[in-house]
Order: sequence, then structure tokens, then C-alpha cells
Amino acid sequence: MSQRLKLEIKALDGVEGRDLVIFVGEGLVPARIVSDLAGEGAAALVARAAAAENFKGKALSALAVPAPDGADYGRLIAVGIGADAERAELDFVKLGGAVAGRLSPGREADILLVLPDGAVEPAQAADLALGLILRSYRFDRYKTKTKDKDAADPLKATLRVESPGAVKKAIKRADAVAAGVLLARELVNEPPNVLYPEEFAERAQKLEKLGVEVEVLGEKELRKIGMRALLGVGQGSRRESRVVVMRWNGAGKHDEPVAFVGKGVTFDTGGISLKPGAGMEDMKGDMAGAACVTGLMMALAGRKAKVNAIGVIGLVENMPDGNAQRPGDIVESLSGQTIEIINTDAEGRLVLADVLWYTQDRFKPRFMIDLATLTGAILVALAQEHAGLFTNSNELSERLSAAGTATGETVWRMPLGKAYDKMIDSRFADMKNSAGRHAGSITAAQFLQRHVGETPWAHLDIAGTGMGAKDSEINRSWGPGWGVRLLDRLVADHYEG
Ligand code: MN
Ligand code: ZN
Repeated sequence: MSQRLKLEIKALDGVEGRDLVIFVGEGLVPARIVSDLAGEGAAALVARAAAAENFKGKALSALAVPAPDGADYGRLIAVGIGADAERAELDFVKLGGAVAGRLSPGREADILLVLPDGAVEPAQAADLALGLILRSYRFDRYKTKTKDKDAADPLKATLRVESPGAVKKAIKRADAVAAGVLLARELVNEPPNVLYPEEFAERAQKLEKLGVEVEVLGEKELRKIGMRALLGVGQGSRRESRVVVMRWNGAGKHDEPVAFVGKGVTFDTGGISLKPGAGMEDMKGDMAGAACVTGLMMALAGRKAKVNAIGVIGLVENMPDGNAQRPGDIVESLSGQTIEIINTDAEGRLVLADVLWYTQDRFKPRFMIDLATLTGAILVALAQEHAGLFTNSNELSERLSAAGTATGETVWRMPLGKAYDKMIDSRFADMKNSAGRHAGSITAAQFLQRHVGETPWAHLDIAGTGMGAKDSEINRSWGPGWGVRLLDRLVADHYEG
């Protein structure tokens, strides 16, 4: 994993690094203890430089100045936390991201985590650490020539807090979640010649070290089970398809599991309905749903969540060749329903149809949530601001929305209904896999709904949020690992203990 940050937790009893990070609000006056550690001149220096640089202590802004005379550190970095009145809304994950953005590789930093108006809770310190780790991640495995040699060095930081013991405990949990997010990012960023279905399955198998039971189903087994819709997508590829079942048993033997299902198209050319060439390289990210589910399982196991959780991912490569599926083909899905293929580029729903049916039939979960980079149409509707949420359960809708607001991985509920469902009726089979441009995200969701039975289910269309992420305070990676924090939060808030 490309985690670049080496983080230590220590007490507020000294300063060892070359950079010193302090926090100030709009009053620009740091906490008293900062003067003891940073030197009497530090506060005055910040005030003077702030006037010159127009730094006002706004949340997530920062000011860097050379250390005052006689200090044994080199640089003072003041990070803004905004107005006192807005303190309750201060997002410590983003704050950690803002701090990490100011650190330099190869220079050790001390972060004095005290606010002008008081102590920081261990949970807030853990959030800050999470932001530090997430922002520090970079994917540069395939860069053999780095212009700036230092840029490859790890970031080293010491987080100095009032109660290191309690903070260390709280950070264990943040570490597990961060590891899950970074795994998801890594999988999305990997090129498609490296990460194909078998390789993805092997990486998922590594979760066994954390106590996750991992079962890999090969093509022979998938044929025997009857996942013909999924196999149809992969039949034009030289790479074999796989389905991976991951199980984390953190609760009692008889506790009903919760289930997460991911679309894992490791590369999507569109198949015979070939996509245009421009931008096709992004289709290495068409497995972001499966990446999220795998990262989530890692997070849950890593923090020993008190829940029984199932993760099932459908891994295929969608390629055009002499054996590829054609428009006009009719396949029988695992549910027994028949599907007319209209467009071989609407392949994700074919994969999910079988995996969703399999999951509800085998595990009888309390709910199923699937994640999929399913439709370009969700970008038309929501851009990259929210994932599209489609669900047959108002309870899941409310809980996912709340977890989204809490983590910043937000969802927006879209409609389902009979009129939309009718749009996927086929002349020749029970349904067709594409109903054209109108309401494209909704008809895709209707298709999935025909394969979930009565199980409470939610579908997250992450074609916008799952890849090609814009830079943010906590992410500079193309693959953002979207959804791991959202679903970890959902589980933590409602389905543990
Ligand atoms: Mn496609
Ligand atoms: Zn696709």
C-alpha cells in the first residue's frame, strides 16, 4: 500500500521536528501551551505575518513562516480553524487533510493539537489522523523517474495531544478505516493489464490475514450455479471471470448478516457496442464498486466491527472478440428471468443481476447495498457531488443519507416506480438490458430491482463519485475510495452490538 505517512502520537511536552504546526481561530491567538512549546515570540510572529499575508484564520487556510529567532525548529505553520461560533461544525478529517497538504516530504513535523478554546476529544484527534493519512496517499508505483527526489520520501509527523493514551486507542479505529479506503483507491488506480478478475480475487484473498473468510468462485462453479448473465459479459475476454464472497463474522453466529455487493468490471470497452476511444482509459475504474466493497470488508475486519457482514463482488472484463456477446442475444439470469441484450455496454447490470440474486438467496441478509459505476446518466443528473441512491426501503434511505452527511460522502435519492419499470420490458424476453437515454440511471436501477426479491435493498450509482475524483482536502488520488467511509459509518451507527 502506498501509505506515505509515518505518524506518531506523543504528549504535549516538547518539539522535535523541523516544522511546527499550530492551530489558530479568527482571533489568531493560539492556545497558551503553544507559547510554552513554540516560544514566546511565536504568537506575535503569526499575528505580524498574518497582517502581511492577509491570513485571517479561516477554517482550513494556512500560513507558513520561518521560526522565531532562537527556536530549535525551522518553520512555523499556523492552520486556521475559523470562528469560535463555528467550532461545533469544524470537520477534523478535512482539517487533517489541510495539515497534510502543508507538510513537506523528508521534513519531520510536530502537530500541536490544541485549540485556542480548549482540548480536543480523542475522537476528533482520530478524525484528524484519518485526514492526514487520506491526504498523504499517492499512487506512484509506475513512476520510475521522479523529478523531485524528496517527493518520494515519506511524510513524518508527530501528533502532540493532551492524552496520548486515549488518542492512540481512538486512532486504531481510524487506521482501520483509512486502510480500507486506501485499498479501495489502490484497486481503482491500478491499470487494467495488472488488475484483471483473477488478480483482483487474489488481492481480496489477502483479507484472510485479518480474519475475513474469502471464497473465490471460478467459471466452472459459476456455470454450475447458473450465473449466465455475468458469464455472458466476460465471454469476450481472454481473462476468466470470478465472483468473490467475503465474510466477516464479528457478531453472534445467529445474527443475520448485512450484505454489500460490488460491480467489478476490471475494464469496460463496451464490448461489441464499443465505446468511443476518447477517455476509454478511465474504464479501468469500472470496478470501483467492487473496490469499495473490498475496502469496506478490510475496514470492518480491521476494526473488529461487531457485525456479520458479507461482501460479494462480480469480476469480469468486457471485451469485444469473436466469442463476445452480441446485441440481440438472450441470456437466462440466475433468477430464471430472461434478458435480451440490447447494448453490450450496459453490462454492469447483467453482472449485478446474478450477484444480487445469489446474495439474497444464499445469505438472506438484513439488507443488500450494491455499489456500481453503472451509468453515465448519473453524472448528467448529479455531477460528482452525490452518488445516486435508489432503494425500496425508506429506512435505508434515511440511514444512508445521514451517514453521507456525516462523512461527506453524500447520496441523493432518485425515484423508482412502475412506469420506469415498464420501460425495460422486452419484445422477446422478460426484460431488456437497455431502455435508451431517457432516465438511464433509473431504468438501470429498475433492472437491478427485478433481481433483489423482497430484500431491503439500496443501489448506489457511483459512476460520478467512484473515479476521476476532483482534488479535495482529503484526496489527491484519481480513485478516491468513495463509499468505504460512508458504509463503515452506516454499519457503526445502526448494525453493531
Ligand atoms: Mn459499460
Ligand atoms: Zn460498465
